[in-house]
Amino acid sequence: MITKLQNRHDLSDEEFLELLQTDSYDDVLHKAADEVRRSVYGDEVFLRGLIEFTNYCKNNCNYCGIRCGNTNVERYRLSKEEILSCCETGFKLGFRTFVLQGGEDPYFTDERICDLVKSIKDAYPGVAVTLSIGEKEKESYRKFKEAGADRYLLRHETATEEHYAALHPAELSLAHRKQCLFDLKELGFQVGAGFMVGSPGQTNEHLIADLRFLQKLQPDMIGIGPFIPHEDTIYRNEKAGDLAMTLRLLSILRLMFPYVLLPATTALATIDPKGREKGLKCGANVVMPNLSPVEFRKQYSLYDNKACTGEEAAECAACLEARVKAAGYRIVSSRGDVRR
Ligand code: SF4
Repeated sequence: MITKLQNRHDLSDEEFLELLQTDSYDDVLHKAADEVRRSVYGDEVFLRGLIEFTNYCKNNCNYCGIRCGNTNVERYRLSKEEILSCCETGFKLGFRTFVLQGGEDPYFTDERICDLVKSIKDAYPGVAVTLSIGEKEKESYRKFKEAGADRYLLRHETATEEHYAALHPAELSLAHRKQCLFDLKELGFQVGAGFMVGSPGQTNEHLIADLRFLQKLQPDMIGIGPFIPHEDTIYRNEKAGDLAMTLRLLSILRLMFPYVLLPATTALATIDPKGREKGLKCGANVVMPNLSPVEFRKQYSLYDNKACTGEEAAECAACLEARVKAAGYRIVSSRGDVRR
């Protein structure tokens, strides 16, 4: 099965199920994934400077710590000056991609987002700007693209209707989420989808549906990380997603999509102190350190005990560089575009 995947042949649902439900294939799977990532990206690891610029959100997703129904969160928005200052710090540290991530905050109108994108691109020519600000209409996405945005992250979370409905409030629909992703692709963004591993109610069949959806979408980036419960949600007593399953899926994704930009996520580093390094060894090739001002980081709490909320950007970059090197890879200072 692994050789089949390595040779770009599809697996049947039964074969995927076999890979997912046992750890017997893990060693071979991880090794094959690392070989494939090295054949496309060598030992390079790309840096993304994450700027969590607003924790206001109009939505009420059941699993999310900053959903609008959570009254225990202190809300904040970064000013344009604060955002540009994060970019300045990041640029000096060698970051050439900035990710503006936030809840679906109506204060940030299309005009304000476009102004932010243009200001970053004017101040730092040659950098890539990624937006991660949720579901919008196609016209809004078009404006963001025209303003210079290069990439867009929008996790689909689960490609199965009933599961989507269980995790989200009734006003959000999987059909619209998927439509957004296809609109973004059509507009020429480098597009990222993805899902949580081990979210409440998730089965291996749901995961196979996720893999099938990704085959259809052919995204440039895939963000997966373990589900981690947040104390202010109905899932506070649920189990967190499993490290082994997340690593298994990272490797499967690398084999299915050799070119894909695959982050070793903060959630992975949260459930295991060596999670990021393990992710890199299983096929991941992107790390996304936080450039947001330290005083706001704890308030951008999507899940509990998030890793690396205390370090200043420079401290964090130095620590990451050493960790990546020790794992056998090399952080490079470039935009880190997809290599199809
Ligand atoms: S998951 Fe995203 S859209 Fe849903 S409540 Fe959290 S920030 Fe808002």
